[in-house]
Amino acid sequence: MKKVVKFGGSSLASAEQFRKVKEIISSDSSRRYVVPSAPGKRSEDDTKVTDLLYRLYDATGDEDRFSAVFSEIRARFDAIVSGLALELDLRNEYETIAEKLKNGSGRDYAASRGEYLNGRIMANYLGYEFVDPAEIIVFFEDGTLDRDTTEERIASRFRDLERAVIPGFYGISADGRIRTFSRGGSDVSGSVIAGAIHADVYENWTDVSGFLCADPHIIENPEVIDTITYHELRELSYMGAGVMHEDAIFPVRKEGIPINIRNTNRPSDRGTMIVADTCRKPRYTITGIAGKKGFCSVTIDKDRMNSEVGFCRKVLQVFEDNNMNLEHMPSGIDTMTIVVHRSEFLDREQKIVAGIHRAVHPDHIALEDDLALIAVVGRGMKDQRGTAARVFAALSHAHVNVKMIDQGSSEFNIIVGVKSADFEAAIRSIYDIFVLTQI
Ligand code: ASP
Repeated sequence: MKKVVKFGGSSLASAEQFRKVKEIISSDSSRRYVVPSAPGKRSEDDTKVTDLLYRLYDATGDEDRFSAVFSEIRARFDAIVSGLALELDLRNEYETIAEKLKNGSGRDYAASRGEYLNGRIMANYLGYEFVDPAEIIVFFEDGTLDRDTTEERIASRFRDLERAVIPGFYGISADGRIRTFSRGGSDVSGSVIAGAIHADVYENWTDVSGFLCADPHIIENPEVIDTITYHELRELSYMGAGVMHEDAIFPVRKEGIPINIRNTNRPSDRGTMIVADTCRKPRYTITGIAGKKGFCSVTIDKDRMNSEVGFCRKVLQVFEDNNMNLEHMPSGIDTMTIVVHRSEFLDREQKIVAGIHRAVHPDHIALEDDLALIAVVGRGMKDQRGTAARVFAALSHAHVNVKMIDQGSSEFNIIVGVKSADFEAAIRSIYDIFVLTQI
């Protein structure tokens, strides 16, 4: 059995956190490949080392600022090394970093050093081999991952490697420069490694006990989801729920490897298992609720539009020509609505309206602002009657007017559109009926 275990920044923010991590690793001998993030925040008002490193990069050329920020960064690592009483001297590493930055190594190089140094410390602390991701994780020039080369390199490097520490977040591009994934990308590194070595499980250790049923800013102490499918997770993450980088799902999903989200501060909690499929029924018909504000809709009316061949295509072409993503498209006989992200729409609004007029000569176009979308997601809905009825009964009791409904044909999600002002009340009412009262 082999597990890839990734630890997030808050799990590695101090010597005390490192100790917890070591205990977690030594309590299960299959936890063989460790992917650390850079030290995160130790408290609410602390700064992540990665943010300090970006600041350091911005300070190159300004001696005083550079050395002030660099000493703050060194102090973070030195405190961990001394707190763990390690015989590890990072002075040479610091020198190399300063020198490279002054000689034009890029922003990604700067950012990657948080993971690099934390990886050095972790390897020393655990007595594991250190593998520099610059040897194995390869990017194309455009910054996307060269999956084939990466998988080949990982497979050959890990062939006889019993245990190792591999820093997250970065790799190397074809031109030999250090590149990073986008923020939070150590999740992706862990997933790529787990996928390439066919790990049994990819454990992602963070500071919450799993994926929550609903946003804790809206629902007090929401339940933790014990098992969720990749499909459900995608729906919920797209709507804003998340403990993990979005791109971390694909490399393991393709190999059928489950992800287990765990809490470093409460290691006995089982966390959330993310799996390809499962016969386990969710505890409450629905698996989770998530939502986002910031949408608007464009409603197009035209008598007998349904008999006009190519009507939809012409309308959609206008959106495509303006490089707009569409979120949803509920329609009636003589009306169709396109729901879009408000932030993308605003500066193209008039061009799009004019384009639709020209393309299909509608009777009327109406724009509506301030919409929120809520996704009620759950594999338990399939073939179960009454789920939609419960959602809408809950909304009606909470005096929430439903502006739009969309149920995916695979029957595991219902999307409702409401006014942004009703967003929180709507989520509370749905959570109430499915989880709290279960009526
Ligand atoms: N340290 C990086 C960040 O703060 C990457 C990560 O933690 O996954 O975004």
